[in-house]
Amino acid sequence: MQSVGTKNTGPEIDVRRLVHGMGYRFRLHRKDLPGTPDIVFPGRRKVIFVHGCYWHGHGCDKGRLPKSRLEYWGAKVEANCARDRRNEAALVDRGWRVLTVWQCELRDSDALARRLRKFLDAP
Ligand SMILES: [Zn+2]
Repeated sequence: MQSVGTKNTGPEIDVRRLVHGMGYRFRLHRKDLPGTPDIVFPGRRKVIFVHGCYWHGHGCDKGRLPKSRLEYWGAKVEANCARDRRNEAALVDRGWRVLTVWQCELRDSDALARRLRKFLDAP
């Protein structure tokens, strides 16, 4: 395997494995969709983004920026968040449902599995 790129991150693989183990089938990284969602369920018209807490500005303890670097990284994270919101809005406009899974949610995989099932089974 070569050139997997930046998309195949640890948390994303964990979420993919979890969803697969729950019996759902999906596609990956549909480039024709806004934001190239990480996990795509074409039949259900649903997508999942798996976000690292730090780079996507989650409000949890993993997502907080160190004060000393806030000025530099803060702008970068803010730009990521703005892009995430744009992508989500564009997907919703096209009739897709969007779920964002945060890296920190993998700490409790039972709770995450319940959340995933609720999202995927909803009409
Ligand atoms: Zn988080």
